[in-house]
Amino acid sequence: MSKPFAGKQAPGVYHHKVGTFEFTALSDGNLALEAGMFSGDPARGEKLLKEAYLAKDAIATAVNAWLINTGNKLILVDAGGGANFAPTLGRMAANLAAAGVDPGAVDAIVITHMHPDHIPGIESNGRAAFKNAIVHVNGDEYAFWTSDEIRGKAPEQFRPFFDMAKAAIKPYADAGKVQMLKDGTQVAPGVTAVAAPGHTVGHTMVRVSSGGSELLIWADIVHCAALQFPEPDRSIGFDGDPAQAIANRKKVFDMTATDRLLFAGSHLPFPGLGHAVKAATGYAYVPLPYAELA
Ligand SMILES: [Zn+2]
Repeated sequence: MSKPFAGKQAPGVYHHKVGTFEFTALSDGNLALEAGMFSGDPARGEKLLKEAYLAKDAIATAVNAWLINTGNKLILVDAGGGANFAPTLGRMAANLAAAGVDPGAVDAIVITHMHPDHIPGIESNGRAAFKNAIVHVNGDEYAFWTSDEIRGKAPEQFRPFFDMAKAAIKPYADAGKVQMLKDGTQVAPGVTAVAAPGHTVGHTMVRVSSGGSELLIWADIVHCAALQFPEPDRSIGFDGDPAQAIANRKKVFDMTATDRLLFAGSHLPFPGLGHAVKAATGYAYVPLPYAELA
């Protein structure tokens, strides 16, 4: 008798308590990066990738989004690539449904930055996918990606990034539902924006604090754990300001390792929660072990 194959992944949803808050990592799927996208010594890079069992021409890379339930507010942080950016992305909405959350119940969306693996999922067929949500985004980030002038000067291959960002946020902007944030803006009690520019002009992390527990959503501080934890000086080709991105990566590594602060990363293997520890060279990534909720 034949045994049916699953043929696809089961829902990518992982819950973690932060104080009294419930924090949920939602998989949006995965992308493949290439070794050549990263700066630094290529031979050393290939060695690091080989040691991590990663293919240098197709580095398996997660794309994660998150939901924070404070008990009386639902805050989505990033929304993945939506339906059109890549065939292996766009799973966030299905995973949110698997988590039992109605999109209409989401009160706020924080966008860490307006790249096409982070923002398109807020929109569906020209409409707001989260009809009752206010979108919070860094003011410089919003100004950059909605500027026709900057788009016009951008290299040809990056212009679709501007188009996707603008299309995603348009239904919210048209409805007056976009609010600008900056470093230190509190989106809700215990949910605070932390500026970490470099990858993009307004790249923003989110600090989640409740009942003495803390978690830092560091978004795109790391794109490839195998390369950038041991060698934080490696930038990725998508960095708007590579030197600033590297400086902020080092600062955030130092802070999270020193403070033993738990972080959540957009591009760390799902569910992408873990700690950084100082290593002989650079840092090492220590993923959080799977745990049932108490
Ligand atoms: Zn990203």
